[in-house]
Order: sequence, then structure tokens, then C-alpha cells
Amino acid sequence: MGTSVNIFEGSQVWVEDPVLAWIDGQVLKVYGDEAEIQTSNGNVVVLNLSKLYPKDMDVPSGGFDDMTNLSYLHEPGVLQNLATRYELNEIYTYTGNVFIAINPFQRLPHLYDAHMMEQYRGAPFGKLRPHVFAIADAAYRAMMNEEKGNSILISGESGAGKTETTKMLMRYLAYLGGRTGTEGRTVEQKVLESNPVLEAFGNAKTVRNNNSSRFGKFVEIQFDEHGRISGAAIRTYLLERSRVCQISDPERNYHCFYLLCAAPREEIEKYKLGNPKLFHYLNQSNCYELDAVSDAHDYLATRRAMDIIGISEEQQDAIFRVVAAILHLGNIDFAKGQEIDSSEVKDERSRFHLQMTADLLMCDPHALQDALCKRVMITREEVIKRSLDPLGATVSRDGLAKTIYSRLFDWLVDKINVSIGQDPNSKSLIGVLDIYGFESFKINSFEQFCINYTNEKLQQHFNQHVFKMEQEEYIKEEIDWSYIEFVDNQDVLDLIEKKPGGIIVLLDEACMFPKSTHETFSQKLYQTFRVHKRFIKPKLSLTDFTIAHYAGEVQYQSDQFLDKNKDYLVPEHQDLLAASQCSFVAGFFPPLPEETTKSSKFSSIGSRFKLQLQQLMDSLNSTEPHYIRCVKPNNLLKPAIFENVNVMQQLRSGGVLEAIRISCAGYPTRRTFFQFVNRFGILAPEVLEKNYDEKVACKKILEKIGLTGSQIGKTKVFLRAGQMAELDARRATVR
Ligand code: ADP
Ligand code: MG
Repeated sequence: MGTSVNIFEGSQVWVEDPVLAWIDGQVLKVYGDEAEIQTSNGNVVVLNLSKLYPKDMDVPSGGFDDMTNLSYLHEPGVLQNLATRYELNEIYTYTGNVFIAINPFQRLPHLYDAHMMEQYRGAPFGKLRPHVFAIADAAYRAMMNEEKGNSILISGESGAGKTETTKMLMRYLAYLGGRTGTEGRTVEQKVLESNPVLEAFGNAKTVRNNNSSRFGKFVEIQFDEHGRISGAAIRTYLLERSRVCQISDPERNYHCFYLLCAAPREEIEKYKLGNPKLFHYLNQSNCYELDAVSDAHDYLATRRAMDIIGISEEQQDAIFRVVAAILHLGNIDFAKGQEIDSSEVKDERSRFHLQMTADLLMCDPHALQDALCKRVMITREEVIKRSLDPLGATVSRDGLAKTIYSRLFDWLVDKINVSIGQDPNSKSLIGVLDIYGFESFKINSFEQFCINYTNEKLQQHFNQHVFKMEQEEYIKEEIDWSYIEFVDNQDVLDLIEKKPGGIIVLLDEACMFPKSTHETFSQKLYQTFRVHKRFIKPKLSLTDFTIAHYAGEVQYQSDQFLDKNKDYLVPEHQDLLAASQCSFVAGFFPPLPEETTKSSKFSSIGSRFKLQLQQLMDSLNSTEPHYIRCVKPNNLLKPAIFENVNVMQQLRSGGVLEAIRISCAGYPTRRTFFQFVNRFGILAPEVLEKNYDEKVACKKILEKIGLTGSQIGKTKVFLRAGQMAELDARRATVR
């Protein structure tokens, strides 16, 4: 990317810096390929010209609203522009097609108040300062004008602000498409109130975010022909199940557990709860409370939100009864039983919790104990009950807790969907996707694998949208267009999801074959992908594998892949809970169809996720996308700190720079001749009076306005980034 043009003595340039990522400086001397530079922090360095980036000297002191205005769109320029703006609390910046939002880590109330919403309503895109409302407004108007679904895709790492941004978008859409003065709960109220409910059950404090969503979410808002919200559907992806039984300091379990422990007295007594420190599923971490959050207050708020959504009092009681049951379940410990390799409930305290669990789930305590401590083995000859040792029983207990919790979560999502209601006659829709960004940690397991797989899919969607489709269109329209290099990630996707032979398929095979271990699974991967460009066997490990993702290499530890991929409910647990006296609980476990109960009960999280993702991509492909990239300015979660290296890493792995390059290179806006004349004829009324054919009319209009750089294809006018806004602004002055 380095460019040696225009570099001479006295030039202002950017050079790489280990601490600041980039630092500016002045060229003192140029000798052949090299230059001596005095950096602004007082060092003198000698570098190859290819390592120097020219500094844009025309940037206004507040930075550019839209980075496509930068003379040089390179990393240091982008970084500098964002940092400058962030310092002024300008957290939003456009870059052509991509909208960047940097988490302020402080409430900026004026930014989102009613006055702000009014201003953005119907304002020409690009006229006002960049704002999420402008994105939502553009999506809404595009939907209304062109009668096509729109989608807003939000990405970024944990804590970057995706969920907050989603909430702002939804509030704005509710403002645009809401009804005033209708009686009862409106669709948009229900949509908005679904947030606190989903967050209570699907969010938790993590190291990266105090209110981290542990699931992906796609909300589809439906509109009628008047542009009023008429229905909505929420789809969720991959709730993190392991958190229910396993947390590490200083994280927390799902919020709902702490909320319930802070419930009013009567409820605490009814469920025999109390201090969260008493419960194994909570006391594995020393963190119980969150700064500036009152669990007691949030408990009541969650209940109120449930009221609004239409979850009855009775159902609410059942929900929290199940939450309490899970806490008690986690406190059942096991000791060695009398027979070899058997187990029994450990002591008086554990027996109390067993009884409580059974009471709350309304099932038989003996049956519960059996379901935890024994496994039925079906062989060809007979059915045997085998005992589990204490460790096996503990695993069984945790498995049951995870299953109940994830079914509870699914129930809530279903309930919210039923209550909001879908509009079968909806005219159009706007989808908002809030999903985990690319992850690369010290330890990367199956979750990271699925998350990064998702991001590969979304990246491909992005590339395809911005690039392939444009390119095809340019060719079709026979307009001049200098080809730019395109990085396709189909090869990574093939590695992961190809049938047969991709990693997901190989993992399923390993899970179905009883003798497989993570070692044999890894060996299989090494053999199969020995020469795959995107697959690397790390030198120092016998079971890890590395995938070269579009955003960088990630080394995965395979040891828990098999377990985490198995989504298999042991029949003992199924039978136990299906027999619950509580119809709410029993309803989580509908009887399985006859043939699946026998042998083919294998279902895998990986394959199901793949299917879900495909459905998501199908939905997205039928819409006009808008992209928002959220950026986390620092890992301290504090305002006013902008860590250059950290931000740059996110811009790289989020594909932001790549995106900027792609989208600015082409003609992001295009209109058919008819649309164009219809919309902009007003700028040249004399052209309309003559009976030109549409194409000629477009040419004449463009000539009159003097818009340079745009092109006329066979059926459409092609505009460069920002030109549509320019035209719209002129149109507004004429009218
Ligand atoms: P993500 O969903 O990307 O993991 P969140 O949306 O939950 O991140 O944001 C993390 C935290 O950052 C929020 O709890 C909030 O404190 C803060 N935050 C994010 N976006 C904003 C914003 N626009 N204004 C104020 N605070 C924000
Ligand atoms: Mg989130």
C-alpha cells in the first residue's frame, strides 16, 4: 500500500511506530530508495520509501465526516481522522458505504434525544452529521421508495457497542413507523421491550463487556403499505450454553440469576434463594455485583418488560421458578456410592437442593436422582441401567442445567415472537443484525470457530455485495471501470462448510463414531487438509489446528470440539422433564417422534448452526444492506481513551480498510434512467420539456449540473460516492 510518489525533502509523512501504530514526521533527506525522517516525537529514522505514507494536509481540524473526502485513504489517515473526531465526541464517521461507530463509553444523552430524531427524519443523507439515525432513516426511505427489504448489519468485537447501536436503530425505526394514540401495547413497544427481557436471560458480564450479549440476534421489523410497523420477528443464534455452569473470575453468569437473588423477600423465600454466594453456578467467580447496576431494580424492570411483551403473571412465575431450580440443581454434589463406580447424592445439604430442584421443576425427586446418577444402556440383547461415578453424575447435572436453560431461552424468544406477531401481509421489512465479531483469543474453542465462521460468511456477503455485484453490473452496463483486486474468502468457507469433506462434516463424523477422540479428529483434519492453503498444522501441537481467516490466523484447541458439537439430550433427562407436573417445564420437552428416539438422535450444533446461517444469508441476500462497524476504543471500557494499535487491529480484522478500498473504487450509487429523471429532472426543467429519450435526458441533466466522474451505462446512471447526497442537496434547494 505504501506509495513513494510525491515524497521529497520537506514532505509530511506517516511512519509506522510500535507504540502509536503511526506517527507523523517530516522528510529530511531522500537518498535513492530511502529517506531520513524526523518524527513529531523527536526521533530520526531512516526508512525505505515504500514504508512512507503521505500525510493529508487538508484535513479540517475536526476531521472529515466522510473519510472518502480524505486525499489519501490509507491506514494512518483513517486512524488519525477517527482519533481526531473521537476526541471531540464525534463518535460516528462515514466511509462511503461503511459507517463507523466508536464506543463513547459514556452516556451522550443529547445525541439520541427526541429533538435529534426529529432532525434526522427525512433529512437528505449526508446533510447532517453522521448518525445511526441517518442510517436507519436511509434504510427506511429506501424501503419505502423502492419497495425492497433493507438490512442493517452491525459488527464489531465484544464491547464495541453493537447492541447499544441496535437499540438506537430500533428506537428510531419505532419513532418513524410507530403509531401514536393507539390503545394497548403497540408492536413497536413490544419490540423495544423485548430487549431488556432478552438481555436478562442472554447477557452477562464478561471481561470485555459488562453487559455482553452471549447470543447473536437478527430482528426483522415488518412494515405495512403506509410505512407503519406491523409485525416483527426475532431470530437468535448460538446462545453460549457453557456459561450456565461454568464461569471464571471476574465474569458473571447470566444476569437473570442475580436478578432473582435480588427479588423481593416473598419470592426469595418461596424459591429458598438468598445470597448468590451460596450457589455453585455463581460462586465460581468473585464477581456478584456490577457497577452502577441494581439487580433488585432490574428484576422489577424485567418483570415489567415481560408484562408489556405479554408474558402472563403465571408464565413469569414459571420462568423464575425454572431459574431458581437451575441454581439449586447446581448445588447437588455427588459422592461415591456403595457399588463400584456408582454415585449418590453427597450429603444432607445436597439432598435439600435435590428436593428443592424437584419441587421447583415439579418432578419426582427419586426420578431426578436416577436421571442424574444413572444411564440407561440399550444393547442388542437387553436394557441395562449403568451407574455413573461422581464425576459422571456431575457432568450429567451440568448437562441438564444447560439443556433446561437453553430451552428456557428458546421459549422466551418464541414467546416474544408470538406476542409481537408477524404480519403476513407486510409490504416490506428492515432487518437488523447484531452478531458477535471476529474473535481470536489465547484459547480458541468451538465457540470461536462458529463465531469466526459467521464472520467469514458476513465478510463474503459484504465482498459480494460491494464488489462482485458491482463488477458484474459494470460489465453488464458496459461502463468503464478499472478492475481492482478482489480477495475472495470462498476457500476458507469451503474448508469449514463444504459437503462432503469440510471441517463441520468431519466433526459430525467424529461425534457419531463412538471411539473418536479429539486426537483422532485432529489427525483426520491434518490428513484431509495437508495441502489446503487456509489450513495450518501448528508445529508445537498434536491436536491444535489453525485457520487462516480473512481477518487473520486463529489457532483452535480441538479438545472440547466433540463435546460442544453434540447436542444430544440424554433420554433420562428428556423422560424426567417431559413427565413434569408443570406444563411449562414439560412443554420444553415435547415427545420425540418415534424413529428419532431409537438411534438417529444425533444432532449437531455445528450443522444446525450452518443451516441457520444459510437461512440468515438467504434473508440478507434479498435485502439492500447497510453496514455499521462498531469499534472499541480501549480495553479499559473508559471514555476518552483512544488506543491507536487496538483500534487499528479492529479496523483490519473487521475488513474496514478493505471495505473502504472496495467501495470507494466503484460507483456506489446507481439509478435507472427513469428513476434518475424522475428524481432529478427538477434540476433541469427545460430538459423535461423536450421529448428526449430517458438516457439522453439523463445525459443532459448531468451536463447541466456539471457533475463529473459519474457515468451513464446501458440502463442506469452510475454515481460516485457522495454524489447522490450532492444531488439531493441541490434538489432540496430547488424545491
Ligand atoms: P457489544 O454488543 O458490541 O458487545 P454493547 O453494545 O453491549 O457492546 O456496549 C458495551 C457498553 O458500552 C454498553 O454497556 C455501554 O455502557 C457502552 N456503550 C456502547 N455504545 C454506547 C453509546 N452509543 N453510548 C453510550 N454508551 C455506549
Ligand atoms: Mg452485544
